[in-house]
Amino acid sequence: GNAVRLQAIKDVEAYVPPAVSFTAGETPGEVFGANVFSKAVMQKRLPKSVYRSVIATIDHAAPLDPLVADAVASAMKDWAMEKGATHYAHVFYPLTGLTAEKHDSFLEPAGDGSALAEFAGKTLTQGEPDASSFPSGGLRNTFEARGYTGWDVTSPAYVLESPNGNTLCIPTVFVSMNGDALDHKTPLLRSQQSMARHAERVLRLFGHATPDAVVSYCGAEQEYFLVDRHFFLGRPDLLNAGRTLFGAKPPKGQEFDDHYFGAIPERVLGYMLDTERELFKLGIPAKTRHNEVAPGQFEIAPMFERANVAADHQQLLMTTFKRIAQKHGMECLFHEKPFEGINGSGKHVNFSLGNATEGNLLLPGDTPHENAQFLVFCAAVIRAVHRYGGLLRASVASASNDHRLGANEAPPAIISIFLGDQLADVFDQVAKGGATSSKEKGTLMIGVDTLPVLPTDPGDRNRTSPFAFTGNRFEFRAPGSMQSVAGPMVTLNTIMAEALDHIATELETAVAAGTEFNAAVQKLLEEIITDHGAVVFNGDGYSEDWQVEAAARGLPDLRTTLDALPELISESAMELFSTYEVFSHREMHSRYEIGLEHYALSVGVEARLTLEIGTTSVLPAAVRHQTEVAQNLAALKAAGVDPDLSVLAEVSVPLAELRTALSALRTALAGDAGTSALEEARHAQDALLPAMAAVRAAADALEGVVADDLWPLPTYQEMLFVL
Ligand code: ADP
Ligand code: MG
Repeated sequence: GNAVRLQAIKDVEAYVPPAVSFTAGETPGEVFGANVFSKAVMQKRLPKSVYRSVIATIDHAAPLDPLVADAVASAMKDWAMEKGATHYAHVFYPLTGLTAEKHDSFLEPAGDGSALAEFAGKTLTQGEPDASSFPSGGLRNTFEARGYTGWDVTSPAYVLESPNGNTLCIPTVFVSMNGDALDHKTPLLRSQQSMARHAERVLRLFGHATPDAVVSYCGAEQEYFLVDRHFFLGRPDLLNAGRTLFGAKPPKGQEFDDHYFGAIPERVLGYMLDTERELFKLGIPAKTRHNEVAPGQFEIAPMFERANVAADHQQLLMTTFKRIAQKHGMECLFHEKPFEGINGSGKHVNFSLGNATEGNLLLPGDTPHENAQFLVFCAAVIRAVHRYGGLLRASVASASNDHRLGANEAPPAIISIFLGDQLADVFDQVAKGGATSSKEKGTLMIGVDTLPVLPTDPGDRNRTSPFAFTGNRFEFRAPGSMQSVAGPMVTLNTIMAEALDHIATELETAVAAGTEFNAAVQKLLEEIITDHGAVVFNGDGYSEDWQVEAAARGLPDLRTTLDALPELISESAMELFSTYEVFSHREMHSRYEIGLEHYALSVGVEARLTLEIGTTSVLPAAVRHQTEVAQNLAALKAAGVDPDLSVLAEVSVPLAELRTALSALRTALAGDAGTSALEEARHAQDALLPAMAAVRAAADALEGVVADDLWPLPTYQEMLFVL
């Protein structure tokens, strides 16, 4: 009640944050990777042949030699125990979006009453957690609860420190007993493999006879909010749903734009230092930090890494941020829209691909020959995003991200590509036959060999585009802050595999038929930009004109999760994912089902919370206020003063609306939601969401009327501006 809220304000004022951080004499360089079973550690501790074999798998995608497991396990265990680890855990990424761990002790009874520290190769490579509590979307029969975890050599093991003991953590895939993927990592590894195969075919055509293994890179910019824990605990909605279901707009919001790149409050700076130190120990290259647009909002962007490692690190980053925030008396919110009327949080996924010898394949480069190669990879992105924009949209679909996409703060739900003036111009010229004049240098250029050299850093920036070229990478801006980056990366890898396969096949065929290579490239680029150029849009993605134009161009506008999810089971998607051996049809259906279930579940929780908070907190506060006003009016009347009855109406009108809305919500919750996942999700969208909105509208109106000392919930002002 209100007492809790007022006490929270006092407690926040009295709070003294813990001291941080890098201890005297300790440098970030010493800390970095200290708890990682890195290549350097392996080189020191593994027999040479074992080390070489492991590196061949990590760096050159060679199949894992099962014979190395025992040696690696033994070295890993010794190293981890020196770091104080008593347990090990297979860490996996189920489709809840969270991180799961199965802990076991190194100690095994020796039969004579003593115990030995054991860690065999087979324990490293395979685990068998109970899978029954994780979503499977129908892949697992209820009587078959088993799931398997399998060691992912390409993502390094690490020791996680905790006051309750240290644990050796081993990143793993998580599959059913038939080998169906139950997690985010399995498809990421499969898609990486397919993309690499076809990227290497393209590289061979460009004269790299034995190209190094191509990998996709991901750099994720993570936005988040920090809220004092006293306030957080006073908000059952934040606690249980991760977002506020009530709360009037504060008198001062983000209108002044004074938070972006503003000074970071001392307390937050201390928190950032502390998290950075923890991330460094885990080998996570945390780099930039600044305030975001909204008050209380911040961002961290670790340096990009191989997508699979970046995805694991991203998950680890989120759990670390949550944990350290609590230590600093704060709560870290990853929800896409914790506060209505205030910018939400995204997780921009910066995407590129490359290998050890060629470097970044999306770098424009400075010789015409390399430019042709660059343009081909760029064209692959254009084809991929045009053909499968709906799938990209589906890869970021969730109930929480729906609050963000298309809200004129995040990119619209229409997936288009921003190329920037320079690159757009080059592709325009390509489309016109390749005879081009370079605007900048004013010289006439003909053919692919002589396409203009692009500057690495185009001057213009477009923040309204969901998919933007930013000089040496594409930035996918639609992913939500709470999501795993694995989903979008799986989609990107797979649609790139298809585009690169198409390109390689076309060029191989043309060359075999005797066409000169450069001419074949020019023809291919021309075809791609002609067939798929409709996805390129360099204008304002927030404008209404764009919605009209996008429709005319045939680009899908999948506004909500329920509009987007069916993309997963479209014929073209099923064919795509099975052709490139990323998902079987069964697995696609399961992802679709899980998406629907998750949607219905989260909206359901929010609806029940809205009903509860509205009924037990907001309504009583408003009634008390109404009683006080009524008593005041009666007293005035008794004293012979003619009372102003509008004061009573001010509270009574929204109060009556609240009662009506609560009863409608109760009815909607009790109503028939159907039985299939689709029906339940539809019910959530069509019946629950509007009913919740009506409750909120009445409650927020009351917040502006009811006496402050009676108001039960910490306000937006308190949560956003007090840190
Ligand atoms: P901005 O806010 O301007 O978009 P940031 O510096 O905040 O950029 O974040 C950029 C992100 O992109 C970082 O994670 C960075 O490591 C990543 N990045 C940079 N180059 C590449 C690349 N070639 N491939 C993938 N990610 C990259
Ligand atoms: Mg960005």
